[in-house]
Amino acid sequence: MTVFARIIAGEIPADKVYEDDRCVAFRDIDPKAPVHVLVVPRKPLVSVAEAGEEDAELLGHLLLVAARVAREQGLDERGYRLVTNVGVDGGQTVGHLHIHVLGGRPMGWPPG
Ligand code: 5GP
Repeated sequence: MTVFARIIAGEIPADKVYEDDRCVAFRDIDPKAPVHVLVVPRKPLVSVAEAGEEDAELLGHLLLVAARVAREQGLDERGYRLVTNVGVDGGQTVGHLHIHVLGGRPMGWPPG
């Protein structure tokens, strides 16, 4: 069971900013920007690489929730970055799909 599954199950605490029947959004424990929220589906997909056609609506919902969280966190005016890491080269450290919502400072490009 991943740490995100344990957060979703309520076994370990998290600073939640949004939740519904399909996903939970909570602040990253080790923030990489002034605002750093993770949007996590309740369905335990490992990453987008594992998602199928049956997950198309869920993936769209996660993006809409990410935009909603960004808006509610006051990031709309200056902008923000959405990231989903996949696998070793992608820098993924938790094997449960999540979208990073990062904002509150300018983001570099290309990413490291
Ligand atoms: P990844 O590297 O897989 O794209 O992102 C995983 C993120 O989860 C990291 O930014 C890391 O700081 C965060 N994280 C790891 N463990 C916990 C935890 O127990 N609680 C919270 N809120 N975030 C965590």
